[in-house]
Amino acid sequence: MEFGWNDEQRGFRERVRSFIDEHWTSAARRRSELEPWQRAREYQKRLAEAGWLTMAWPQEYGGAGASYFEQLIFAEESSYASAPTGGQGADRVGPTLIIHGTEEQRREHLPKIARAEVDWCQGYSEPGSGSDLASLQTRAVRDGDDFVINGQKIWTSGAQHADWIHVLTRTDPAAPKHRGISYFMVPMSTPGISLRPIVQLHGAAGFNETFFEDVRVPARNMIGEENRGWYVSTTTLDFERSGIHRIAAALRPFRRLLAHAQRPDGAGEGRRIADDPTHRRALADTATEIEVGRLLGYRVTWMQARRLVPNMESSMSKMFGSETQQRLARRGVNMLGLYGNLRPGEERAPLGGEFCNYYMSSVSLTIAAGTSEIQRNIIASRGLGLPRG
Ligand SMILES: Cc1cc2nc3c(=O)[nH]c(=O)nc-3n(C[C@H](O)[C@H](O)[C@H](O)COP(=O)(O)OP(=O)(O)OC[C@H]3O[C@@H](n4cnc5c(N)ncnc54)[C@H](O)[C@@H]3O)c2cc1C
Repeated sequence: MEFGWNDEQRGFRERVRSFIDEHWTSAARRRSELEPWQRAREYQKRLAEAGWLTMAWPQEYGGAGASYFEQLIFAEESSYASAPTGGQGADRVGPTLIIHGTEEQRREHLPKIARAEVDWCQGYSEPGSGSDLASLQTRAVRDGDDFVINGQKIWTSGAQHADWIHVLTRTDPAAPKHRGISYFMVPMSTPGISLRPIVQLHGAAGFNETFFEDVRVPARNMIGEENRGWYVSTTTLDFERSGIHRIAAALRPFRRLLAHAQRPDGAGEGRRIADDPTHRRALADTATEIEVGRLLGYRVTWMQARRLVPNMESSMSKMFGSETQQRLARRGVNMLGLYGNLRPGEERAPLGGEFCNYYMSSVSLTIAAGTSEIQRNIIASRGLGLPRG
């Protein structure tokens, strides 16, 4: 196996870095009056203009026909810089429509996603159905050329800014649970949809409860066949779980922590970390874990490039990437001592309070996109051939 990058790929990485620096990192300083979601939207428009928002899509649908490895380089550099990528539309709905959508659906939705004109959110989880998603209860009932949806979703990230939702519903309550689900695309402006924000530990309100009350959606907005929506949604979930971004996002805080411990003045906080054998070992473990996680991510891309379907491999990468981030965040706040609990903006917060926020937000990483327990179940049953527990 060749672990290096060729000249073309190295050149592409450089171009991505300078693009991110100009349009995201420096632009964020210039446009500090914007809300984070507005900045993300503006940036996605720049990405769309550069042809990078949907770079691996076929050209006929607004993509650039880029290789999987170019997409990986782009995702790696973006996550390192905490810059947005495609989001629900470009990274989940679009690729799902390319595989399972009708030609009419592709022509209607893909160009708008590729031009960053629309934002999507995901209506899967319900108060009683998270890990056991196939038990979902939101009902869709046929009425002429439409379906009428009633029920509730939860943890709908970014629904307050979204134009569309992709939503799983039960269309045949008598069928075995996986076989009575249908998958719809619904404009968020449809009468009958309402939201209630959920405020998180660190104060942001990124999630929502989403209520559907007699929401009418045309039957042509169904993705895939009626009652076969579960099998379409597993494609969407594979896209959600694969990706180098989790491990790439760990690299920057790790480097910042390491630089703090390496400070040449040899005094104060950094020296206390560098001299402590437990902290030294924890830093060495993290460096190793980041390398392992990176290779797990590259393996997924390598399989995709060979038209293999990474399933257990996506789960391994997802689980290891999110758990590595959590361990790093926990190690970071431990190393920084009591001051490590100070938040951004507090005078004595080490590293600008970054690790306090990282610690709190990392709690959710092993839950989002399927918990670590569920990933382990997938690895054990689909990957290792063990009987279902
Ligand atoms: C940051 C974030 C963003 C999210 N965004 C969205 C979104 O946009 N749209 C959306 O639809 N959902 C979203 N979710 C919801 C997410 O998909 C669910 O939280 C997740 O699937 C787990 O479901 P649950 O919270 O109901 O937990 P539960 O399923 O109730 O699980 C509780 C605990 O039981 C364990 N468990 C459950 N079943 C098993 C089993 N069979 N074997 C072993 N252990 C088990 C779980 O691992 C977990 O530890 C988001 C979640 C987070 C944290």
